[in-house]
Order: sequence, then C-alpha cells, then structure tokens
Amino acid sequence: MKQTELLKVDPQEPEIEKISQAANLIKAGRLVAFPTETVYGLGADALNPKAILELFSAKNRPLDNPPIVHVENFEEVPRLTQEVPSAAKKLMDKFWPGPLTLVFKRSSIVPEVTVAGLETIAIRMPQHKVALALIRESRCPIAAPSANMAGRPSPTSAEHVLEDLNGRIDAIIDAGPTRIGVESTVLDVSVAPPLLLRPGGVSFEALKEVVKEVQLHPFVVSEKEISPEKAKSPGMKHKHYAPKTPLILVEGDLSKVMGTIKELTTDYWLNNKKVGVLATSETAWAYEAEVVKTLGSRRNVDAMATRLFRLLREFDSENVDVIIAEGVPLDGLGLAVMNRLRKASGYNIIKAV
Ligand code: AMP
Ligand code: MG
Repeated sequence: MKQTELLKVDPQEPEIEKISQAANLIKAGRLVAFPTETVYGLGADALNPKAILELFSAKNRPLDNPPIVHVENFEEVPRLTQEVPSAAKKLMDKFWPGPLTLVFKRSSIVPEVTVAGLETIAIRMPQHKVALALIRESRCPIAAPSANMAGRPSPTSAEHVLEDLNGRIDAIIDAGPTRIGVESTVLDVSVAPPLLLRPGGVSFEALKEVVKEVQLHPFVVSEKEISPEKAKSPGMKHKHYAPKTPLILVEGDLSKVMGTIKELTTDYWLNNKKVGVLATSETAWAYEAEVVKTLGSRRNVDAMATRLFRLLREFDSENVDVIIAEGVPLDGLGLAVMNRLRKASGYNIIKAV
C-alpha cells in the first residue's frame, strides 16, 4: 500500500507550492489524480513507459485501452503527432481548452505502451486551472484516464477517487467537484470525415457547426454490446461506468417509461427486493420505490450529466437490490448521458411499450 497524499487547492487560484509538489511526483514517474472540467483524471508522465505501466496497474485497466494524453499548449501537438489535419486545427481553435479529445496519427516519440500499441494517439487540452498548472509545472504531456477503478463510474470528486484508489496512487489534488461530470468527446481526426468515437462534453451538434461532416460511430448510439472486431476505439469493448448494484435502463416515450418502471417496481417489491429508481424532477413523484434519486430536470441535460456519476455511486451505499433508470432525451449532452447509462446497465435495456 502507498500513502496517498491529499493536496487541497483553490480551483481558481491553485497554490503553486502544492502544484509543484504534485508536479515533482509526476516528473519522478509517480501517479497523481487531479481535477479537470469533465471528471478527475489519474495522471502520469505520458513519455515515461514505466510510469504508464503503473498507471494501468493502479486502475486495473486492460493494457489494450490507451489513456488520453493531456497537453497545456498547442505546440505540444505537432511533437506528439505526424500531422494536424485542417479540420483538427479548426476544432482545436474552437474547443480547446475544453472537453474535446482528438485522435491523431502518432509520432515516434510516444512510447508504445502509452497508446496501447496503436498507430494513433488521443490528445486533449483540459479547461481547468489546476490541470493546466499541473501539466505546465510537470513539463511533460500527462496521460490521464479517469481516476476510478476500471469499470466503475468515473469520479466527479476527490472523495470518489479516494473510494477507488486510496493506497494505490501517490497523491490526489482536491479542488472540489467537477463542472461537466461526463468525460470528453472523443473524435478521430486521423480519418476523413472525422469519426465520433465517444459522445461527451462537446455535443455532436456543436461539432457539426465547426466541421460540416462528422460521422457517428454506430457504437455511440448502440443499444447493444459491440463485437470486439468492430470496436474502433478500445474503450468501446470494455465494461464501463457500472455501479456495484445491477442497473436496468428503461427507454421510450416518457409516459410509457414511467408505467414500465412502476410495474417493475411492484414486481420486485412482491419478490422482496429493494428498488432504487433514477428519475428526473418531472417524474420522481410518481415512483413508490425504496430510494428515488433525481438527475434533475429533463429540460436541462447539462445538469443531468453533472450529477450522473455521483448518483450512480450513491446508490451503492443505499443497499438496494436493483437500480431502474429512466432514459433521457438524446440531444446535447443527453447523447453522452445515455451512452453512459446504456454501458452502466451492461445493455440491460427495456423498451417501454
Ligand atoms: P478515459 O481515459 O477513461 O476517459 O478513456 C479514454 C477513451 O479514449 C477510451 O475510450 C479509449 O479507448 C479512447 N482512446 C484513447 N486513445 C485512443 C486512440 N488512439 N484511438 C481511439 N480511441 C482512443
Ligand atoms: Mg474511464
């Protein structure tokens, strides 16, 4: 067991001594969790293969699923890639720093293990003062997957990171809860037209305003598990975002969804099972379950995204036997929320009719 040091910093004006302390750990090949605007990341020097191997092992992450490499200035990108296509330049101008990860052809300075042996590399510039200060002080690109145990919901607070990784990492910078709450959008710009691999903090609609043509990988809207050979992004084929309690997702017209959830709740109740419902503020009143949590208003998908992972974790301490979740609208960040819910359910999806 390691001693995990907790460094509390001000999110707006991060104390430089604490950032330097964390940066020295990164430089020494150690592991530091830090906040970004999306979720907390677990950082290691992207150019240090030994540190990256430790990163995978701390998270129990399969070695074939590469992390995103975080940079703090635009000049790093040509160093890490073979070419920066014009569509990528436009997207970087518009969305960086921010929750958009771009997949490029990688350069030879990137260690194989950092990209899981792929010819490509996923890069983003986070929009968080603490993350940017840490990368700047570390003087290296920082590889950072989400700071959770592989398969669990991503952490949106330092407490979540400690829940999963206390004793397995060297330090955590705590700057309070994260703003967006779901991970970055992953867009492959090594192909034309660009291909959306994971919906996230930048919506599909917003991307299409900048590059006319964007393909949506079928997985992004998939309602079933994808076969490994079709998984364009390694993360597609791994189990993800799941609370310990089994989760059932109910999709369809809202009134039918509500009816189905009420029926299911009664069935479980008759079988002496405790039910938790993940509802919305418009619908929560209708359910008579042991625990009802609300993601927020169906009219504000951004706020739903912010709360999603925290609520999924909270259900695990409620002692319910099953979580039944309502589907949410697919526009804006709703696409990312639904993608996470579908994966969290292990594609245990009921179509309400
Ligand atoms: P996480 O770090 O937990 O946010 O996950 C990073 C996501 O980016 C995973 O879904 C990875 O599969 C994906 N990813 C990372 N590198 C690449 C790459 N070179 N090509 C395609 N997807 C990638
Ligand atoms: Mg992750």
